This record gives sequence, structure tokens and C-alpha cells, in this order.
Amino acid sequence: MSRKVGLGEDIRGQLAAHLGRLEEEGVWGLEVKATSAASTPDEAASTPAPDRESLEEIAAETVGCVLCKLSEGRTNVVFGVGPARARLMFIGEGPGRDEDLQGEPFVGRAGQMLNRIIKAMGLRREDVYIANAVKCRPPRNRNPESDELEACGVFLQRQVEAIRPEIIVLLGRVAAQSVLQTGEPLGRLRGSVHEWLGIPVVCTYHPAYLLRNPADKGKTWQDVQVVMERLAAP
Ligand code: SF4
Repeated sequence: MSRKVGLGEDIRGQLAAHLGRLEEEGVWGLEVKATSAASTPDEAASTPAPDRESLEEIAAETVGCVLCKLSEGRTNVVFGVGPARARLMFIGEGPGRDEDLQGEPFVGRAGQMLNRIIKAMGLRREDVYIANAVKCRPPRNRNPESDELEACGVFLQRQVEAIRPEIIVLLGRVAAQSVLQTGEPLGRLRGSVHEWLGIPVVCTYHPAYLLRNPADKGKTWQDVQVVMERLAAP
């Protein structure tokens, strides 16, 4: 079950004002100096965490996985990418054609949009961990089905528990509803901070949706502002 924490009116006001300024400046091309909001890959790799399962161990179990029917059409299992101790984790829906071929999440046009969002947050792609709700490509890019999300959700949960990010961003309706175990529409899930495995969770639009609906980029910027405030908090 997710737990909602409403946003204060003062934060909404600040976000609205900040959004207005950033829209005028063309936020998606904005150059922002990188902050200390995320660990560097070097720091991440060197941080010992003997009490946690390693990502390598979990990834090794997904190689050759046949727990669901998505195994039948995949080229590669797309496990995830990023530092093992990332402070911020993005979770999308599932691999597309480019991701299936390259074995890395968010490398196509939607990936370029996600990269722009990350950059606008003042971070680098290599600072954050990126994964999907299912690790094998659904045929013809259809939505993952409930049995597939359930089967692969075991890997995703172990992945999150291994990383223990400070905050998670769920990209799109499928990831949001699957992770938060709810049927609520994305529009209602946005604007609140939820919780999963004791970790704060923010929902926003999938980058592929933003490519088709650029007018909603401002709403995504509002969502990631909440994430940035959380990461900047002492
Ligand atoms: S989607 Fe997940 S559960 Fe299904 S075959 Fe791939 S790795 Fe296994």
C-alpha cells in the first residue's frame, strides 16, 4: 500500500513560480551546475554494504530467466544501469526495441528525453539508477501484463532493496500502478509523495508520453522539483 503525503501550499506556490521562470528560460535545455545530490559512480562503487544483496547477484539470476512469457521474444534482459548506491532511481515500464537490442534501459528517443530531464535536475545520467518494471521487451511494445509485472516485480523489489535510493521516480501509469499496487490514474497519483519499501516515491509522466504531449513537460518539471527538494534536504 502506498502512503500519500500532501504537498504544502507554500511548496506548490514556490514550484509554480519556479516553473514559470524555467518555462521562460526553456527548461529542457537548461544548463544547471551539478549538485552533490547524487553519489558519483566512483563513490558508489567503493561504498561497502555487506548487509545488502549485490546487484550483480540479482542480475545474474535474470540472465536466462523464463519466469514469464516475455522471455520468448527478448534479445537481451535489460536489468538496469547506474551506480549501486544511487540516491535517485527512475523506474519505467519496460524495454523497447532499442533497449532490447542494446541491453540498456532508456536509450532511444524516450531515453534522450529522460536524459534532458536528468540534466535539467542538475544531475548526470551516470549519477542515477534507471530500471524498468519488466526486464524483457513486451512484443510490439504493448504494455506489460499483470502476470509479467508480478513475475518481474520480484527482481525489481530486490533491485530497489539492494540500492536503497533516497527517492524513486515512477515514469508513467504502468510503473506507477504496478509498484504502488493501485488502479488510480496517473493524474491522481501525481502531486503526492507515496512510499514503497520505506522509500519516498514520486509519480510522473513517461518520457515517451512527453514526446507525444510536450505541453505536459511543465507538469513533469513540477514533479521533479519535489524530488530535487528532497535530495537537497539535509
Ligand atoms: S520480464 Fe522479468 S520475469 Fe519475465 S522473463 Fe524477463 S526477467 Fe524474467
